Amino acid sequence: MLRTISGFDRIGEENAFAVLARATALAAEGKDIINLGIGQPDFKTPGHIVEAAIKALKDGHHGYTPANGLLATREAVARRTFTTTGVEVSPENIMIVPGGKVTMFAAILIFGEPGAEILYPDPGFPIYRSMIEFTGAKPVPVPIREENGFAFSAEETLALITPKTRLLILNSPANPTGGVTPKSEIEKLVKGLEAHPHVAIMSDEIYDVMTYDGEEHCSLLTFPEIRDRLIILNGWSKTWAMTGWRMGWSIWPNQLYDKVRKLAVNCWSCVNAPSQFAGIAAIDGPQDDVVKMCKAFDNRRKIVVDGLNSLPGISCATPKGAFYAFPNVKETGWPAKQLASALLDEAGVALIGGPDFGILGEGYIRLSYANSEENILRAIERMEKFLTK
Ligand code: PLP
Repeated sequence: MLRTISGFDRIGEENAFAVLARATALAAEGKDIINLGIGQPDFKTPGHIVEAAIKALKDGHHGYTPANGLLATREAVARRTFTTTGVEVSPENIMIVPGGKVTMFAAILIFGEPGAEILYPDPGFPIYRSMIEFTGAKPVPVPIREENGFAFSAEETLALITPKTRLLILNSPANPTGGVTPKSEIEKLVKGLEAHPHVAIMSDEIYDVMTYDGEEHCSLLTFPEIRDRLIILNGWSKTWAMTGWRMGWSIWPNQLYDKVRKLAVNCWSCVNAPSQFAGIAAIDGPQDDVVKMCKAFDNRRKIVVDGLNSLPGISCATPKGAFYAFPNVKETGWPAKQLASALLDEAGVALIGGPDFGILGEGYIRLSYANSEENILRAIERMEKFLTK
């Protein structure tokens, strides 16, 4: 019998990948499956970005880069950060990482251990809790409520801080709810955090360009008072439809930067060089495709919300960001996870049960509307047939 560390008994999964595998298997059997499960843009990476990677390969960029990323890529991220937030960040504080997930992995590993407490959103991206459990730290869910527009409540968040709290994870625009936390609430939160200088903050801003109805993304980076304990998670995956390239960036305060740089040296060495050149092209090139993609998500959002609200037992608050809807299905009488699997097996619609995102996810399902309008309408039709059966 091999003895492995107990963290592996506690580590979790992201059920979206299991649903994707099951949906793909059903499709391979000839079933017509509409996939609203996985959270990735259905668009291809814009052509000029692909060309930049090909050029980098042809130019012979085949070797290791510095562990924290090419200076040119980090400089591009600094330019992009200035454009979106108005904040000047030194490339010395930027890490290029293999996907947004790696930033959360690093941040949670840096702060998590038995006896420590880490606050994370519930419902929220499932990997936060999984990684916290892995380290042996105590996961402390911060309730994200429908009646609060699926935004963080500064008051509720601050009330959960104890002397043992090491890290607070924030996410806006949010997965799985599409909630956007308004600037006024973030201001309150930051003000309150001044009384807790022992708490680091990781702000997951990977959906920062995807806000709707005039809602504005407020980056935590715009608050200099917490900058020395703030980690920003961002990346290329969603904004430029690059999930498979494994390209993320993070911004770290001086006191943490060398820890994550050493982790990179020990673990992934660097992000592959051609992708880092593609990353520069994504930031510096034309943004028309990004604008088009966001416009398409906005249109689909309206279709999905109207469609869901027409279904018996379902009510869907209008999401203000990202590309997810998180309808309330309590009145259908179905437990959410069972409803999600029945919809896949019997109606051919892949989506995720809310409990996969946390305790407060019971009674909800998550649909990703990163799919064509036609498919969304077909999915709604199938759901209607299923629910009225
Ligand atoms: N953060 C959130 C909130 C996400 O939804 C995702 C992906 O779904 C990630 C981070 C991870 O992004 P990446 O694919 O770049 O690792």
